[in-house]
Amino acid sequence: MKSNKQRRAEIKAHRRERAAALAARLRLPDIRLPKADFADAPGCEPADRAVLQQHNNTYGVLPDFYVARPFICRDCGAEEVWTAKQQKWWYETIHGHIDSRAVRCLACRRARRERLRAVAPGADLLLEKTCRLRALGAAKPSVQARAEIEAALQSKWWSLRVVAIQAMGRWGGEENLARLHAFMAARPEGGRRYFGWERVAADAARSALMRRE
Ligand SMILES: [Zn+2]
Repeated sequence: MKSNKQRRAEIKAHRRERAAALAARLRLPDIRLPKADFADAPGCEPADRAVLQQHNNTYGVLPDFYVARPFICRDCGAEEVWTAKQQKWWYETIHGHIDSRAVRCLACRRARRERLRAVAPGADLLLEKTCRLRALGAAKPSVQARAEIEAALQSKWWSLRVVAIQAMGRWGGEENLARLHAFMAARPEGGRRYFGWERVAADAARSALMRRE
């Protein structure tokens, strides 16, 4: 009988081999491919560029696909693989910065989080708040929930404001929809050069409305 530990080690080794093989096949320094050729390759996940565009305010090229990335843990030196699925979750679900990468293994990430929590309680605040607002958006709006969304619209973190706008879109209702349309109407002209909250809000409102259709 294999222990769970052995089994996990085998799975990891398999992932590493697969990622290394894929990397060799691609021979690119950045293996988030701008090509569609690898859609069916093992270890690939299609990227949703519409979602990425909404949350990434950089001018870099957005990927069409995620490809498993081998990396060495910064803290313990373990050989790890950042899977395509994990990348998709990181970039599209919790909106990790498009230029951010996995640098630590799970154990070291946990250890680091614990250390941070000890010296700086609330280090995970943004993530916690984001999850909280998402949960509010998924449920029926209560008075309390509306107040929290309202407060989030004033947050210093734009990503929280965007989640608040998404929640308003999910809730719907005449008043919320009117406000989303107002955000859209306030989109500044001359698009590309101007970067500000008004533009981000307008784009977030637009996709929140489109999602309702
Ligand atoms: Zn590590």
